[in-house]
Amino acid sequence: MTRPFPAVALFLFAVLAACRAGHSAPDSGWQLTPESEALVPDATLRAQIFRALTAAEKAGTDPSISHFKVRAATIIEKDGQDHVVVGGNTEYSVPEAIHGEASLINHVTALYGRDTTRQALHFIAFFSERCGPSGSCGDCRDFQKASTDYGRLLIVCGQSSDHTVRVTRFTDQLVAEDQFPAASPASLSISPAELLQLLTAAEQARLGGVTLFSASEQTAAAAISYTGKIYRAAGADDAAFHYRYPVGGVLQQAATERDYFLKAILVVGEKGHWPEVRYRDRQYGYESSSFNRSSGKPPITLILSDGQGSYRATTFEAALPKAFSTANFMPQAVEDFLRTHAQP
Ligand SMILES: [Zn+2]
Repeated sequence: MTRPFPAVALFLFAVLAACRAGHSAPDSGWQLTPESEALVPDATLRAQIFRALTAAEKAGTDPSISHFKVRAATIIEKDGQDHVVVGGNTEYSVPEAIHGEASLINHVTALYGRDTTRQALHFIAFFSERCGPSGSCGDCRDFQKASTDYGRLLIVCGQSSDHTVRVTRFTDQLVAEDQFPAASPASLSISPAELLQLLTAAEQARLGGVTLFSASEQTAAAAISYTGKIYRAAGADDAAFHYRYPVGGVLQQAATERDYFLKAILVVGEKGHWPEVRYRDRQYGYESSSFNRSSGKPPITLILSDGQGSYRATTFEAALPKAFSTANFMPQAVEDFLRTHAQP
């Protein structure tokens, strides 16, 4: 009676092991970090994430400038079947890029349509040599917000070196404008006179720009630099949908004058409404604020005006959590650039 038991137990163990392997194979080896387990309690979703990570490893990329591969994948459940969809980054020219997550979302839409992207894209899994703290660039945040059910979207990073898997919520990368702290003219880092200069410049700028597709959303920005110079710009759209953002506009003008260190940027929209500052524009502001950080200056103050005397104020660092800039990858290059290019 004692002999069959180990045999049965061994058989059961073998069956259980096969079932477990069946759940994760051929993706065995991926392991959620303890903090991530709580975000993915569902075994089916875990298995889908591991399967997507294994698929992401093989996603094609063409990062000819940065040589930094962004390989992404997801699983779309449709008609009772799981479908793997991958995306990869491509870089070209000046530099421009199609980013990995944008490639993935567009691929899902191309295969299964807009509604499926909204309803069935539950996670984006990145296969990475090293999982760092950074989220998507600002533009990809805008795209994910617009095209997915982003309140539920999970962001996954699978680290190739040890196969640990970190899961976070996409919403960790967002800060709505109504969460920017309220401010008074006296509480700001610029004087009331400078604030008035910025407000006047931004409101005048908003009368311009190009708004063939974006009239109701038009915003404008004005910036003041440490030299005391004011720059202003309004949003401009075009037929190719390569929108030019107002914060990006003022930063480019200031950079053209080798005036790289800005104190504050004020944004206005329609009178009586808080302006929206798109994440792409926050990315431009964050990059520029990293110039301040690299030279020991305070971050740029980002001020919103409702056009009726109320203000909100924050920083691009706070408005774009988990951001990255050139200063992260090439701090010495940024320092050298500023030393050789900034106005004396
Ligand atoms: Zn991006």
